[in-house]
Amino acid sequence: MTVNKFIRKLLNLKELVVCGFDLNERKRHLLIFVKPYKNGCRCPECDRRCKIIHQSKLYRLWRDLPVYGCQVELCYRPREIVCPTHGRIQENIPWADNYSRITYRFEFAMLIYCQIMTQKAAAQMLHIAQSTLSDLLHRSIERIRDGHRIRDLKAVGVDEISYCKGHKYATIVYDIKKACVVWVGKGKGEKTIDRFFKEMLSDYQKREIKWATCDMSQAYINSIENHCPNVTLILDRFHIVKKLNEAVDEVRKEQWREASGDERKALKGLRWLLYRHSSKRSKKDSSILNALRKGNRRIHRAWILKDEFEHFWDFKARWAADRFIKRWTTTALKSRLEPIRRFVKTIREHMHRILPYVETRMTNAIAEGLNRIIKIVKNRASGFRTLEAFTDLIFLTVGDVNIPEQIPKNFRTI
Ligand SMILES: [Zn+2]
Repeated sequence: MTVNKFIRKLLNLKELVVCGFDLNERKRHLLIFVKPYKNGCRCPECDRRCKIIHQSKLYRLWRDLPVYGCQVELCYRPREIVCPTHGRIQENIPWADNYSRITYRFEFAMLIYCQIMTQKAAAQMLHIAQSTLSDLLHRSIERIRDGHRIRDLKAVGVDEISYCKGHKYATIVYDIKKACVVWVGKGKGEKTIDRFFKEMLSDYQKREIKWATCDMSQAYINSIENHCPNVTLILDRFHIVKKLNEAVDEVRKEQWREASGDERKALKGLRWLLYRHSSKRSKKDSSILNALRKGNRRIHRAWILKDEFEHFWDFKARWAADRFIKRWTTTALKSRLEPIRRFVKTIREHMHRILPYVETRMTNAIAEGLNRIIKIVKNRASGFRTLEAFTDLIFLTVGDVNIPEQIPKNFRTI
């Protein structure tokens, strides 16, 4: 086997032929002279074989993966061709994208590394500067996502996230069915989501959206219901429970403020106890709460109401859930507890957005889970200064396109 053939086998790429190499031992720099195998002088647009008219005098370099601590670069003088359809154009380079300075294999490694580690670590492994890496990453992700359209969106979830040390906000739209992010937009509130519906979806796609989940923010509700005529909005279960817990806590706080020294002792440590779900309560907890019946009637009443409300989530039939919630709200209104009454008001207002939960069992849990991954990405990078850099990584880790999969198949090795 000749050395050139050996190197080609080592590179494990069928698309190119090795014509020579040059190793600079002092700089640990390996240059490999290559040329396209067989399918050279093809048009990059239509893949037609065309006439060569010019070969560049200058060598172009493509960065490849480092080997044995050596920087590796592929070296070739690209030719110009004339395509009957596309005119004078540079021939197709099989190992890299047009105008790219790195090979597909390098690109693939970069994308995979950036999914699992910090950009600093990835830059070290690839022997390049961190600023170069983020630049290359941005270009690569932009190229791969270019012209991408949202497809088959049936259930959406909306959430917001802060970046730039919590000074700025971005709104994230999720595909709940596929568990991925479809859009990231600057800012928060109704106008931002309006932008998503206007820019990203056609009227047909908007009609196709059947379900949406979000928290109780009026901005989200308005925007989603305005744009999607067939949507069933389902308010997130956990946000409703949180609202009720807050109401109960407010009752506790009121009582705490009014209580004297001795009475306060009895109310100590109640806060987290009241938050706890009934299934996670120990016997001791229950006895403390039962003692409240004599100790503080108002907190006890609030707690009983909260416990009763938990049953709502177990209903399977809509009519039964409907009957239950009507009875519950009537009782709760009679409780003479102002925070609870306010909660009831919200519930009544959003009744048609809460009841569908019984049939669909849909929550914002997937969106919240994805949000958690996004936060991990954010913390790993110790924050992002620009939304573009943040968006890149969001799409790379939880986007609707599997970005590394878009690299040609036989280059997907590290
Ligand atoms: Zn062509």
